[in-house]
Amino acid sequence: MGSSSAPLPPVEMFFFPFVGGGHQIPMVDIARVFAAHGASSTILAAPSSAPVFQRSIDGDQKSGRAIRVHTFQLHEDAVSLDTDTSAAPSTDTSALLEPLRELLIERKPNCIVVDSFHRWSAEVIDATGVLRIVFNGNGCFSRCSFEMLDAHKPHEGLDSEYEPFVIPGLPHKIEMTRSQLPHFHKAPPDGGNQPSGHRRGRPNNNHFGVVVNSFYDLEPQYVDCFRNVMGNRAWLVGPVSLFNRNVEDKAVRGKASSVDEQTCLDWLDAKGPGSVLYVSFGSLARLSSRQLHELAHGLEASGQNFVWVIGKVSGSEGNGEISADGDWLPDGFEERMGETGQGLLIRGWAPQLLILEHPSVGGFMTHCGWNSTLEGVSSGLPMVTFPISAEQFFNEKFIVDVLGIGVKSGSVEWSSWSWRNEVIEPVGREKVEAAVRKLMGGGVEAEEMRRKAKEVKEMARRAINQGGTSYADADSLIRELQNRNGD
Ligand code: UDP
Repeated sequence: MGSSSAPLPPVEMFFFPFVGGGHQIPMVDIARVFAAHGASSTILAAPSSAPVFQRSIDGDQKSGRAIRVHTFQLHEDAVSLDTDTSAAPSTDTSALLEPLRELLIERKPNCIVVDSFHRWSAEVIDATGVLRIVFNGNGCFSRCSFEMLDAHKPHEGLDSEYEPFVIPGLPHKIEMTRSQLPHFHKAPPDGGNQPSGHRRGRPNNNHFGVVVNSFYDLEPQYVDCFRNVMGNRAWLVGPVSLFNRNVEDKAVRGKASSVDEQTCLDWLDAKGPGSVLYVSFGSLARLSSRQLHELAHGLEASGQNFVWVIGKVSGSEGNGEISADGDWLPDGFEERMGETGQGLLIRGWAPQLLILEHPSVGGFMTHCGWNSTLEGVSSGLPMVTFPISAEQFFNEKFIVDVLGIGVKSGSVEWSSWSWRNEVIEPVGREKVEAAVRKLMGGGVEAEEMRRKAKEVKEMARRAINQGGTSYADADSLIRELQNRNGD
């Protein structure tokens, strides 16, 4: 992407990311996209996240783009804020309320793009008169699916959690079970069943519009539904991960990697083209030790090469986590992986984009977070879907039933990361092995998925380049802000 041809008077855009990888990472990329299109972008950060954001924009600043980080100074009596990249969606960020209000009044930007997880922010922003544009991290397919569920309630009155139902009103036949729905979606209207700290709903829809990390050709019917049926003014500017063009950009995204990039790339270089499965469950998910044990057996038995990012492990201790070094791996697993070279284990944070785009990687086992879904799509990879939480079961249907580029692992039980998920029956090793073999084993069906995935990758690249829909949407929002500026 580059700036558009006609010189634009400066438009000042603020970006207020939420804490937590799946929301924070794409918002920083979005700020960079708008800076590349000629806007003056300011990313608003709590003190502890400022260095992470700064790293991501160093290159843009060196190349002369108008992008910067504004670090909030917390008021003395403010409670400290967990801004770790793996912070929970329910993290209370209201310590930033006063500093935000003061900044908006002082600077009066043309708009602020704000993450919907800052649940307190709508009123504060609207009271300052600054245009509020919302980002919620999801694509249009899942939002339309939720909308149709709300409208038609096909999940109510079923005999069992596992009885399939079809979501009415969607252009594709999408079958779900109640077990795959978020608990907060199944809860009675009084919200009696909701996990603490998690508030769904639409606290304030009186916004100027919505910025979406997706692209039109990926989900055209669902974009139309989101815009025309659900009535959203939406600018689709993704996939924004593609904006990270060089190795440096890709390596510094999110946290610092827990593995030396070169070690990882050397390991991949030694494998054949398309022969490695990349396995990751995103920035948040805490899998149970039982589930990880089954995964390890399944991956080993598949005989396929893999890079496995072991993130957090759920347990009954303190904050619900146990050490990723625990003894839950099968006996001798790690030693065998080292000796045979079949698997590389990464404990903590992996340079995901670098790995996904490596030619040796031929498939992605994913929890179907929307960013990971888009990153898989943008890398042209077919996927083994292993949804866990949030809207991930919808994204699974999108990957498998709409795009036709995925194999389901058999995960059918929605769980909140903050609830103890060791009570959930794990996806067994046989299912893991079968799904991995099906995707990576070279059968006709898998080859067809691979072909389709490559097509979608090309569409993604076209969308963000000059002449593409995402490029045009970014320009069009800037133009609109500019015109209002001149009013
Ligand atoms: N990510 C990464 N390294 C990791 C884990 C995650 O770079 O080890 C990035 C990943 O590339 C994606 C984001 O973190 O951009 C995760 O977002 P997603 O929506 O897939 O899942 P979430 O973390 O929100 O569940």
